[in-house]
Amino acid sequence: MIRINENYLKLKASYLFSDIAKRVSAYQEANPEKPIIRLGIGDVTEPLPEACQKAFHKAIDDQGTREAFHGYGPEQGYAFLREAIAKNDYQARGADVDASEIFVSDGAKCDSGNIQEIFGSEIKIAVPDPVYPVYVDTNVMAGRTGNNVDGRYEGFVYLDSTPENGYVPSIPDEKVDLIYLCFPNNPTGATATREQLKAWVDYARECEAIILYDAAYVAFIRDESLPQSIYEIEGARDVAIEFRSFSKNAGFTGTRCAYTVVPKALKAQDASGKEHSVHALWNRRHCTKFNGVSYPVQKAAEAVYSEEGATQVKALTDFYLDNAKIVLKSMRELGFDCVGGEDSPYIWINAKRPSWDFFDLLLNEAGVVCTPGAGFGTCGEGHIRISAFNSRAKIEEAMARIKAALA
Ligand SMILES: *Cc1c(COP(=O)(O)O)cnc(C)c1O
Repeated sequence: MIRINENYLKLKASYLFSDIAKRVSAYQEANPEKPIIRLGIGDVTEPLPEACQKAFHKAIDDQGTREAFHGYGPEQGYAFLREAIAKNDYQARGADVDASEIFVSDGAKCDSGNIQEIFGSEIKIAVPDPVYPVYVDTNVMAGRTGNNVDGRYEGFVYLDSTPENGYVPSIPDEKVDLIYLCFPNNPTGATATREQLKAWVDYARECEAIILYDAAYVAFIRDESLPQSIYEIEGARDVAIEFRSFSKNAGFTGTRCAYTVVPKALKAQDASGKEHSVHALWNRRHCTKFNGVSYPVQKAAEAVYSEEGATQVKALTDFYLDNAKIVLKSMRELGFDCVGGEDSPYIWINAKRPSWDFFDLLLNEAGVVCTPGAGFGTCGEGHIRISAFNSRAKIEEAMARIKAALA
């Protein structure tokens, strides 16, 4: 019989969301008259901005006429979108990124998961803890780790985010080759200052490592002193790849569009020490395995950069940020230390007890569903994540119920 890729057997089964679902349905059965409020989900709730809807509709009409029909587009994305991205997200902020360095795709999940395949199998990898599981699991599948022992895979360097370091990991005291960073962070909502990011860039330059910078939540940054792109940091073009997505800013989670920036300056070496362009490698992979994002979706994404679209995206993210403020204020009033919720839609709460105990307490006493931090890694223990992706009415009611339950 054909053999499987046994690296898949090393994957620690993720029971997180099925465990949550089990506890929620048990509660609902026991309390059929008490509706629950879900604040655990990392998905947006509000519809697409009107500017995106309009552009989407028009592009679908184009597809219905012989004159305006589009078949296969460029694998890397249409110039209209790549140029809008380079101009608005980078050049306008003084970051030197050219349209030719942008690869449009159907998701930052796919890109941050696929990127590892252009690197060697023996490389040393640093991953955050708690973590967006994609970074870890894709490297486990590729055979870059040993087994999972007590919640951690052998072979990774773990970057702890703890109350002591303000949930921004410190630079490791050993050399690594590949570093996954995510700011504003999922799950913690923590942001990195310019100085903190500069320290990572300097470390990567010293190690000749590459930083994979996931900026999926950049649209929630309001503090102008915070960097939005890693390319705002001097020297980053030689050491960083950046992932972005239209999922969380413009509500594209069900529409699918994202992009990855691979600077042409980025180099990596082969076994003989000869240098190669990482941009060329990613271009080769992208063109071989991907056939481009649909034309109507790229048109809808382009509308994010129109004056109307930008205003609507700002209003949409402001709405979630106001939800986050309500959660942050309520949880702080109840005496909890929190991070996130200011330049992020997530609030990471130090529960001062096992995360599943606090999950059960909020479910059973308030009918509110959160995400237990232990599901995101060893350092997530003792914490929960609350998401601001919900209606104002539900956020307010959830906070009132939590206050009543814990007072
Ligand atoms: C939501 C999210 C993304 C975006 O994923 P898409 O595939 O573009 O929807 C990327 N990274 C993190 C950490 C996320 O939470």
